[in-house]
Amino acid sequence: VGKSEKYDFLAETKQLLNIVAKSLYSDKEVFVRELISNASDAIEKLKYAQLTNNQGVDNQIPYEIQINANDMNNTLTIQDTGVGMSKEELIKFLGTIAHSGSKQFIENLSKNNNGNNQNSIIGQFGVGFYSAFMVADKVQVFSKSYKDDEKAFEWSSSGDGSYEISEADGVTRGTKIILHLKDDCSEFSKEDVIRKIVNKYSNFVGYPIVVNGDKINLIQPIWLEDAKNITEEQHEEFYKFLGNMDKPRYTLCYKTDAPLNIRALFYIPTFKPSPVDISQEADVGVSLYSKKVLILSKANQILPRWLRFVKGVVDSEDIPLNLSRELLQDSNLIRKLRTVLTQRILRYLNEEAKYDEQKFMEFYSDYNLYFKEGIYRAADQNEKEEIASLLRFETNKTEPGKTISLLEYVKRMKSEQKNILYYAAPSREIALNSPYFEAIKQKDNEILFLFEQYDEMIVLQLQQFKGKQLLGIEQENMSEKNKDDLIIEGDTRSLSNSEAQELKTWLKTTLSSKIKNVKITNKLDTHPCVITAENMSFLRHLIKTSYMQRE
Ligand code: ADP
Ligand code: MG
Repeated sequence: VGKSEKYDFLAETKQLLNIVAKSLYSDKEVFVRELISNASDAIEKLKYAQLTNNQGVDNQIPYEIQINANDMNNTLTIQDTGVGMSKEELIKFLGTIAHSGSKQFIENLSKNNNGNNQNSIIGQFGVGFYSAFMVADKVQVFSKSYKDDEKAFEWSSSGDGSYEISEADGVTRGTKIILHLKDDCSEFSKEDVIRKIVNKYSNFVGYPIVVNGDKINLIQPIWLEDAKNITEEQHEEFYKFLGNMDKPRYTLCYKTDAPLNIRALFYIPTFKPSPVDISQEADVGVSLYSKKVLILSKANQILPRWLRFVKGVVDSEDIPLNLSRELLQDSNLIRKLRTVLTQRILRYLNEEAKYDEQKFMEFYSDYNLYFKEGIYRAADQNEKEEIASLLRFETNKTEPGKTISLLEYVKRMKSEQKNILYYAAPSREIALNSPYFEAIKQKDNEILFLFEQYDEMIVLQLQQFKGKQLLGIEQENMSEKNKDDLIIEGDTRSLSNSEAQELKTWLKTTLSSKIKNVKITNKLDTHPCVITAENMSFLRHLIKTSYMQRE
């Protein structure tokens, strides 16, 4: 073994190294992800060398990432059987910050050929390695290049101004990194801590990861598979991996390459959400991956807030990451991603509703509050109507308990009917017996009944659907031309026309400024009169509360 040589980091490397070690990452534990990603890249490159020029083939050495957590020595060791680094490469790639051998590799690939496996390479920024100095006060790197005539070397540094390189003995192909952990980072020498972190970020890396002797990444990244090849058991296993206790109620696999590359797997849980689940504080359920490596768990920019009940994974190579891979950069692109995914989910739910109505209605009764929130918060009319296509209502024309969608309603509208009519009431019985309903009954229009909490608020938000105005039947009644109806003389249950006119004049003078108008109607059968307020939703609220108090 030759003597060790000392090198100073270049000035800018020194500064950047400080930033990486002190403030780039919000979470220290991500150094594990970074070093495993490098190990995976190294194996990927080796595989490429073996395939293209038959170099580095040694059947004795498996593709593998070995991790050893040693809390006795307060060290963590990460070893791969990849390409390794020559002395020059150690200087170039580890001695110079922001110099990514992986980026260079990808560039060479795309220059030379179609670059088939460039997609599997994770590295790009050339800073990840230095994250080791967040937790270690000394880092030793033992490396042996896969190239035949290369010797093995040790690179070591305490992350201050310099690093040392010396020849090393007994090193097999690949790279072994030993982190001597800082005193306040000793948790990372604990096997169960490391296991959890590896599970969280790197579970789907394409090569076996062995922690203290046990292989841990056994679950496959099934979101990359063809939907038809994934079994129900695989879905259940994966769904559990995501931290869920029940089984998926709905499963949606989605892949596309345009307008951007997306691989997504979504689940809707079987359980009925509790008020706590529905509350605004509840976490979102979708994690963002890039090239199978976790970028963000609970990624709240990927789907609109109201879809927080959806669990799953979105993997996109096109996601523009910042240096720390924690933040998404291009907000336009994220918005595009969100739109594409939301539309896909809505389309899926609409299809499911047609395919198995009963199942959908169970889902609807458990989850409809989310849809209503979605409509309430939607940015534009288009989005509101897209979500509103999922809403279901009873009408005066449906059997009790049966519902229709707004789309069906519009299809069934009579040609002379201009507006979508609705009536908010606490129950079907009350709706059917209400004077407002009676006053409009003669026209025989279909009327949506709004029974549920928030229904009316949502309809007021929506305002329109497919170009038709949504109108409460009270307003519809009011908007009738202002002329009095003529009473058919001889109807013994009714006043005569002159008596009615007399009553109208009396009401008008007596109530004077408290009312806007009095109109004679012949549309009521069982009710003597109807009072309509300009702001019916408020009045209805009062009516509803008084009904509930009576019950
Ligand atoms: P990035 O992975 O974004 O390129 P890093 O700072 O993580 O940046 O690593 C810098 C470079 O060091 C890599 O591009 C690679 O060339 C080299 N390197 C790091 N770790 C390994 C390893 N385990 N085996 C081989 N080369 C490595
Ligand atoms: Mg890296």
